[in-house]
Amino acid sequence: MSTIKLQVVSPEKLIFDKEISMLIVRSTGGELGILPRHAPLVTGLIPHAMRIKIDGGESLMAVAGGFMEVTPTLITILTPAAEEPENIDVNRAQAAYARAKQRVETFKSAPAQHEEIDIDRAEMALARAKARLIATNTSFN
Ligand code: ATP
Repeated sequence: MSTIKLQVVSPEKLIFDKEISMLIVRSTGGELGILPRHAPLVTGLIPHAMRIKIDGGESLMAVAGGFMEVTPTLITILTPAAEEPENIDVNRAQAAYARAKQRVETFKSAPAQHEEIDIDRAEMALARAKARLIATNTSFN
């Protein structure tokens, strides 16, 4: 079976470095499926749970946005943060989710009265927390 190497890199470390069969990511332009010998591309990523297929199995990895470069043999993801499910602290992600959701709801209920809330920042924090909860199959509402 043909494979493509996936490297996920944060400012601190190399988080993931393996040959995979397929990667499904949410880019700034929509969902993309990357197979071996994909045409070269560079795109932004939004915070989400990426799907990594290896040998018929599939695993998830939370990614906090960043950039992806694809060549026919190598996918490089440069991200502020990414975690495999076993490295996610679910309690921390649930707390971050509740905090961000509260901020977003407070702002949306009366934007003019909450100019102190940075809504873009709150929405990104919410998306990162959701990605971590999805990657660990944790329900949220
Ligand atoms: P929090 O508000 O809980 O800090 P955050 O979304 O602001 O969450 P980030 O800025 O995305 O956090 O990440 C900062 C660092 O903490 C990164 O190294 C990231 O991998 C790690 N991290 C964040 N949340 C979790 C989590 N729930 N479990 C494990 N590591 C986490």
